[in-house]
Amino acid sequence: MKNPLLNTGELGIFALGGLGEVGKNTYVYEIEDQIFIVDAGILFPDEHLLGIDYVIPDYTYLVENQERIVGLFITHGHEDHIGGIPYLLKKVNIPKIYAAGIAVDLIEYKLIEHQDVKAPKIEEYKSYYKYQFNNVEMSFIRLNHSIPDMFGIVFRTPQGILFHTGDFKVDFTPVGPGAEYDKLAAIGSEGVLCMLSDSTNAERDELIQSDSKIGKSINELFSRIAGRILIATFASNMYRIQQIIEASIMNGRKVAVFGRSMERAIEVGMQTGYIKAPKDTIVSGDDVNRLKAHEITIVVTGSQGEPLAALSRIANGNHRQVKAMAGDTVIFSSSPIPGNQEGINRTINKLFRLDVEVITHGPLADTHTSGHGAQQDLKLMLSLVKPKMFIPMHGEHRMLKHHRELAIDCGVNPENILIMDNGDVAAITDHSIRLAGKVTSGEVYIDGTGIGDIGSTVIKERKMLSEEGLFAVVLSINSTAKKLVNEPTIISRGFIYMKGNEEITQSLANEVKRITQVELNKKMFNELNLKQSVIDQLGNRIFDMTQRKPLVIPIIVDLKV
Ligand SMILES: [Zn+2]
Ligand SMILES: [Zn+2]
Repeated sequence: MKNPLLNTGELGIFALGGLGEVGKNTYVYEIEDQIFIVDAGILFPDEHLLGIDYVIPDYTYLVENQERIVGLFITHGHEDHIGGIPYLLKKVNIPKIYAAGIAVDLIEYKLIEHQDVKAPKIEEYKSYYKYQFNNVEMSFIRLNHSIPDMFGIVFRTPQGILFHTGDFKVDFTPVGPGAEYDKLAAIGSEGVLCMLSDSTNAERDELIQSDSKIGKSINELFSRIAGRILIATFASNMYRIQQIIEASIMNGRKVAVFGRSMERAIEVGMQTGYIKAPKDTIVSGDDVNRLKAHEITIVVTGSQGEPLAALSRIANGNHRQVKAMAGDTVIFSSSPIPGNQEGINRTINKLFRLDVEVITHGPLADTHTSGHGAQQDLKLMLSLVKPKMFIPMHGEHRMLKHHRELAIDCGVNPENILIMDNGDVAAITDHSIRLAGKVTSGEVYIDGTGIGDIGSTVIKERKMLSEEGLFAVVLSINSTAKKLVNEPTIISRGFIYMKGNEEITQSLANEVKRITQVELNKKMFNELNLKQSVIDQLGNRIFDMTQRKPLVIPIIVDLKV
C-alpha cells in the first residue's frame, strides 16, 4: 500500500495538525513508502468547545497506513508537540519514539500517567546521531527555544535534503547550549530541497529578547521588591525557573513551588540537571508561612489564568496554603497565549482587589520573552538554509502567509512555496512541488478525565445546554395497556421559568400526551421511536412557541406487566 496521491518518484509532506492553528503539531513525511511522523501534539481549545480539555488530530490516515510507519520523531517537549502521544499510541502501532534530552523525561512522565497505553521503546537521540532507514538518513540540529533540547530534523532523501526546523528563535546568548548555526549553514551550502519552518511570530517585526537578558531583568526586579514575591510562568520553561531560583538566591530568598505541573517540572528538572539549586533552597509548601516576607519566592502555575491553577486559587482566596495580601507582588513571567487574555485579566482583577502589586511583562519590566523567532530570526533561518522549496508551518493561516512573504524576500521562488491546511499533501520531486490532494484530517475532542474521545454531537449538546437550556419530560407509560399512567412531568432548566408560564407548560404537556398516545397506538410500540418523536415533535413545537431550541430529554418509565 502506498499513498495513491503520490506519483512514482515523489515524496509526500503533510500535516495532521499544526497548519492553520498553533497547536496539535503532527507532521508526516512519506519518503519511499516509509512514513516518518514528526511530533504528536495537542491543542488547548478556546471557550467555544465547552468542557473540552484538549483537541488531538484525527489519526485515521496513520491507522490505515500503520505498517509503513518507521517511527515518531519528537523535536522538543512542549505539549503542542508531545501531548498527543498517549492518544496516538492507543490508536496506532508506532515501532519506536525518537526524542532528545528533557523531552524523553517528559514523555516518560506522561506515559506513566496513562497506564493503559502500551508504549514502544523511546530512543534518546543526540545532536550528532544519525539514523538510516533504507535510502533515508536522518540527523538533527540543535536550536534555541523556550524549553531545553529543541532539535530541527534533517532528512537526506533520494530527492534531496528536507529540513524541519521545529520551534525556534535565534538567541546568541542563550541560557543553556547554543544553536548549531554551523550545521544550518552546512546543509544550506550542500543544498536544501524543502524546508518547513516555524511561523508563530512571522507577523512580528521586533527583536525577540535573549533569554539571558530576561534573567538579568528578573534579578533587578527581585532586588527592588521588599515583600513576598509570587511569580507565575510556564512549567516547561526550565531555563526561566532556573533564573527565578538564581534571582531568589541572590536576594536571600527561599523558593516554594505550587501547582502540579510546576512541582513536576522542578522534580524532572532537578533529576536531569536542568534545574540546579543548593540544598534547602527549595522549601516545602508548609514553610511558606514560617518565613518572613522578604525571604520567600513562591513559584506558581496559572500564568494563563487557568481557573484551577495555583495562582487562580490564590487570587480567589481559596488556596489552602497561600493567602495573598497587601505587600505581596505577583509577577507574570509569561505572555498570554491567544485566547487566554480574558482569563488572565480576571485573575489580575482579583489580585488587585486583594491589594496585591501586579507586574506583567511590558515596557517597564522584561519578565518574559518569546520562544519563537520574529521576522529577523526567520529571515536568518531562510538565508542560512536557502531552501529551494518552502512550506511555512506551526501557525494560523495569516502567520503562514506572512512567512511566505519573508521567504520570497529571502529569494525563494514564489512558485515553490505552498501554504497548506491540515490534510493537504505536498508532492515533491527534486525539481517540482505540487498540491497533490487531501488525506483524512480533522479534530478529535478529549474530555477532562481522558477517558474517551468526545464526538462533535456532545459538543453540540453542551452548546445547546449552555445557550438554550434543558427541557426534560418524564413519561410513565404502560406499553401493554397502551396508555399513559400519569400526567407527564416537565422539568425545565435555563430555558423558561415554569412559574408564570403555565400556559406554555400546559400546552407542551398536552403535546407530549398526544405524541405519546400516537406512538402507543402503533402496532409495534418501540421506546426509541417514542423518544425520537418527543425530541423531534416537541422540539419543533417549543421552537414555534418560544423561538428557542433547548435540549429535549425524554425519560420513559414503562410500567408494563
Ligand atoms: Zn515549542
Ligand atoms: Zn510549538
